[in-house]
Formats: sequence, C-alpha cells, structure tokens
Amino acid sequence: MKIRTLTAGLLAACLALTACGKEGGPSDGGDGGNGNGDTAALSYEVAEDVTVEGSPTFDQMKKTGHVVVGVKDDQPNLGYKDPTSGEYSGFDVEIARLISAKLGFDPKKIEYKAVPSAGREQAIINGDVHYYVGTYTINDKRKQQISFAGPYFVAGQGLLVAKDNEDIKGKDDLKGKKVCSVSGSTPIQNVRDEGLHQPGGEIVELQTYSQCVSELLNGQVDVVTTDDAILLGYAAQQPDELKVVGEPFTEEPYGVGLPKEDDALRDKVNDILEEAMEDGTWQEIYDATLGKSGTQAEMPEIDRY
Ligand code: GLU
Repeated sequence: MKIRTLTAGLLAACLALTACGKEGGPSDGGDGGNGNGDTAALSYEVAEDVTVEGSPTFDQMKKTGHVVVGVKDDQPNLGYKDPTSGEYSGFDVEIARLISAKLGFDPKKIEYKAVPSAGREQAIINGDVHYYVGTYTINDKRKQQISFAGPYFVAGQGLLVAKDNEDIKGKDDLKGKKVCSVSGSTPIQNVRDEGLHQPGGEIVELQTYSQCVSELLNGQVDVVTTDDAILLGYAAQQPDELKVVGEPFTEEPYGVGLPKEDDALRDKVNDILEEAMEDGTWQEIYDATLGKSGTQAEMPEIDRY
C-alpha cells in the first residue's frame, strides 16, 4: 500500500513537471519548443462498417474515399501546420482526426484545408470541406447557415499585449487603443457591438490571428483580442515578448461545423464526441495539447438542439 502511494506521488510529480522521461522542460511544453504539444502518443482506432443513414455528406466521403476537413493552420496548440514538416497538430486537429477515425476513415488520409474565420460558413455551404474543426463558436447567427455538433470545448474572449505593457489589464482598458482581431469572428463583433475601443480607438481587422500578432510585435497595434485558448498559444511561443492579461469576458463554445441539412451526420458526430468524453479520449487529447501548459478543463455537455 505504501509503495503504491509513493508511486502515485511520483507520478503526480512527473505530471506536474511534464518533463519526466522527455526532452524539453516545462517551459516548452516538452515538445522541443514548437508549442504544439505532445500528440505523438495519440492514435484512434479506425471504425469498420460505419453507416450514417441519410447523410449526404457521409455519402460523399464514401464516394471519394477520403475526408476533407476545414481547419486553422496558424493557431499553436489548436490548429497548426508545421512550416517545415507540413504536419498538422493541436487540439482541434486531434478532434478532427478522432471524428474521421470513428467515421471509418484513417486520419492519415485526411485532406486538410486551412480556412480563415471569415470563410468558414461559405466553405461548408459550398461543400469545399466535409466538416470544420477550428475554434468555431456555436451561435444562432451561424446556425442559420450551417449546423454544429458539440460543444466540445468552451473558451472565453481574452486580451494579448506586449510583455512590457502596463496599461491594458482588462476589457475596460481598450478605450482609445488600437485593437486587432479577425474578420468574421465573434470577438471582433463583440468589440464593435460594445464599442470597447471607444472613444478614440480603432479596430484593426485582419484575416488571421497570426497577422494580428505580427502587428502587435511590430508595435502597430496595442492589443490582440480573441479566445483565450488561441492567445495562450501565441504567448507560449514568445513568452519574452507577449502576455495574456485579465479574465475571459465571454463564453465561446466550440462546435464542429457541418452542412445545415445534414442532421444524420450531426447526430453521429455528437455521438462520437459524447463517447470520447465517457471513455477518456477527450481528456487524453486535451492533456496532450491545450493542457500541456498546465490548465485543466472538462468537456462541456453536448447540445443536441
Ligand atoms: N471562437 C471565435 C469565433 O468563432 C474566435 C476564434 C476564431 O475566429 O476562430 O469567431
């Protein structure tokens, strides 16, 4: 009994340090510093003889023999394409792989399509992607055009500033500032609706968050705002230059974007996510990606609207 307790204690210490038996210390997440987590250990059994009765999207996948998934490619720990290897990694990418495997398609054969925030609805409507997994907030406006499975995670809007910035500590400090966010995103809409930058400030609207981060590093904007999960990834990549400040001030439930009329596929993806929560797969994915920084989370309850 004593030995067991000791082992458990050691294990807990290892987990807390995230460095036991691996190269790279806690500061780089144990992944050699690329900020993409340690996902090498994750793999998903590819389901056999899958049927999704009445799903035109699934029929399409079957016909072509592969899955086209819409993702982000510039969001470390979430959806990130390694510029050298071309490999995709991150929490959202793993969720996409899990779904593919449970639909009967080897995740190795996924065709990834990077689609920025403003292009998501149209990419799904056009059939350019079979499904989309990329920090995609479920909301009523978007539900008019597409449908969502999930939520599989809940983020909140946050603020990213230069490390030496002392005057922005929360959303009430944005007055008169240059605030950068992305076209077609909920955070930019929120700043606009609430006039958080007013009086005297400016919204700088770009296509991707990595473009906003470049502007911040160049001193062209004062602050980048979007989901805390996204901002923490950038801050972890450049901890000497950037920091996330304040408390999250919205709720951003992430869903898997699907064609609007395809209720059968939505039900199936909801089943897949629910099972991943129950059998611990979701937690494994979280721990190997977003959870690398030491944060904890639980999967929210599926909303079968
Ligand atoms: N979750 C927010 C949204 O869906 C912000 C992140 C993003 O643009 O992907 O608009």
